[in-house]
Amino acid sequence: MKEKFIFGTLIFFAVVFIYITFSYHVFSIKKIDNGATVLTTIATTTSDIKKIKVLIVPGHEPGFGGAWYRGLKEEDLTLSLAKKIQGILINNPQLDVVMLRDDNGWNYDISNYITTNKIQIEDWVNKHKNITQNTHIYNKQKLLHIPLTLYGTNKWADENNIDIILNIHFNSNPKIIGQARYYKGFTIYTTGNKSSNSTSSKIFAADMMYELLKIENKSNAPKEDTGVVVDQDLIAVGSNNTLSVPSIIVEYAYIYENFMQATSTRNSFFEKAALSTATAIENYIANKLNK
Ligand SMILES: [Zn+2]
Repeated sequence: MKEKFIFGTLIFFAVVFIYITFSYHVFSIKKIDNGATVLTTIATTTSDIKKIKVLIVPGHEPGFGGAWYRGLKEEDLTLSLAKKIQGILINNPQLDVVMLRDDNGWNYDISNYITTNKIQIEDWVNKHKNITQNTHIYNKQKLLHIPLTLYGTNKWADENNIDIILNIHFNSNPKIIGQARYYKGFTIYTTGNKSSNSTSSKIFAADMMYELLKIENKSNAPKEDTGVVVDQDLIAVGSNNTLSVPSIIVEYAYIYENFMQATSTRNSFFEKAALSTATAIENYIANKLNK
């Protein structure tokens, strides 16, 4: 009797165990099925609409700042304008806007990439340099902090399918101390013919100049008064052929221009500049990348 009871109990628990296992199994398959369906749907959506990746680089970094004038720091100004441009572009569902830094500091993906790939970045730059300069001697150079950061950003952009790059700056040069006349206006820098992104960058620069001319004048400084200046040595636009995608530097104004001093006039300029910039980026994408 006792044995029968134990046997019965064992059968009971075995049935319960099999039932639980079986129902959990069915449930998990259903869950997996649902998961798979969801994953398939996402994959179809993202491949149907390939997002264009825009990298916005607010020029200079805190502590290694650029120009300054009467309490204004270029690295703060570039971030302020970058956020306004980002604020417009994120409304475009076709775009994936990546900021190099924002109010929370550096984009961790990029800063972490640079700090953990220092040697690889140096090797990559040296290889590009040797090919571009046609030197047969492998001339290995170590990179200082700022070039490492700039080249590291180019390498990261290259490996992360960035489609277009905007570098935001404010001009300070040439400023002749003691001279009454200061320069005014914008200048766009792009790379020369030695870089594979030269043509695309020049078209992007022309689109940008077209839009900026609606809100301000080209620089009146010698050499910068053409509006677009070609410079083969600027890392951010791809010196040593380190970028394959269009990249420009926009010096939106001279930091010491009168309208830059008061918050209200500066902000109203930033609103207009952000709108012009976003339009230029969207136009370039519509004409060149979406075909
Ligand atoms: Zn600068």
